[in-house]
Amino acid sequence: MNIFVVVTTLCVFSETTVGQSWTYHEENNGVDTWSTNYATCATQQQSPIDIVHDDAVVDTTLGEFKHALFDAPPQSMLVKNNGHTLQVDLTNGYIINDLSLLPGKFKAEQFHFHWAAPESRGSEHLLNGGRDWGELHIVHYNTKYEDFSTAMNMTDGLAVLGFFIKDDYPQDNADIERIIEPVFNDQASYYSESAIYITSFSIETFLPHNLTTYYRYQGSLTTPPCYESVVWTVFSEPIRISRRQADMFETMVFENSRGASDTTNLNDNYRPVQALNRRNVYRTAHCSGTASFLKPATHFIFLCTLIIGLMRVY
Ligand SMILES: [Zn+2]
Repeated sequence: MNIFVVVTTLCVFSETTVGQSWTYHEENNGVDTWSTNYATCATQQQSPIDIVHDDAVVDTTLGEFKHALFDAPPQSMLVKNNGHTLQVDLTNGYIINDLSLLPGKFKAEQFHFHWAAPESRGSEHLLNGGRDWGELHIVHYNTKYEDFSTAMNMTDGLAVLGFFIKDDYPQDNADIERIIEPVFNDQASYYSESAIYITSFSIETFLPHNLTTYYRYQGSLTTPPCYESVVWTVFSEPIRISRRQADMFETMVFENSRGASDTTNLNDNYRPVQALNRRNVYRTAHCSGTASFLKPATHFIFLCTLIIGLMRVY
């Protein structure tokens, strides 16, 4: 066997069986090993965290996100399986330029999902100790930097909007369906080969109704290299998808390349919660707290009315 054949064999081997330099669960490069290769993963302001509503500090300067902010469709949307998640890369994503919402002018770069294995829950953040089915992250970079790569390790470089996902919607979520359709069509099921442009649409369409109630804290990327460059916004109201759609994520996305000897479902792609350490979590002043567990909305309105009523009595 000459040297060319050896090198070629090693490259193919590494692409199809190892693939990534880190994973969530493998013994030699799973979450417990991240800090060995990426020192920042062991530092003091890591994400995700368990958000405890009663411990969050009300910040009256936090403004209200409006659906109109997310209206402008990106120039293009590229759905891909990067071996760690199902991700949609945006070209010329919308820009949020409102200092009451984010500390700078931030441009949407990509969004992606975290989810669990069947019969389990895979949101990254917890709310009052509870984990939801999954979590959507919309990643933005500060436009004071040239691009995402330049911004990603700057302390004020990134802003991520996080939305819990519940799998209890009685019908398919039509907007999320546009993103998972390439999986259903076997166009984004496998790592590395899978990238497909879908018809561009406004991200506003799949966001929950209530964007005014959220939590805010300073944290990190939840994957290596775990840079502490993220101002986090985690919304109370979840996105809701159907059980069928949840099943697609759980069973039809693979972390290996097509044709690899081991076929492994890509799921349970969430990082365990990290210590809060000396950080504060802030929350909006709007009546909220357990909104994601109080459906339908009438319960939420009832609770707000009750609390306001009691405040007047006492
Ligand atoms: Zn994420």
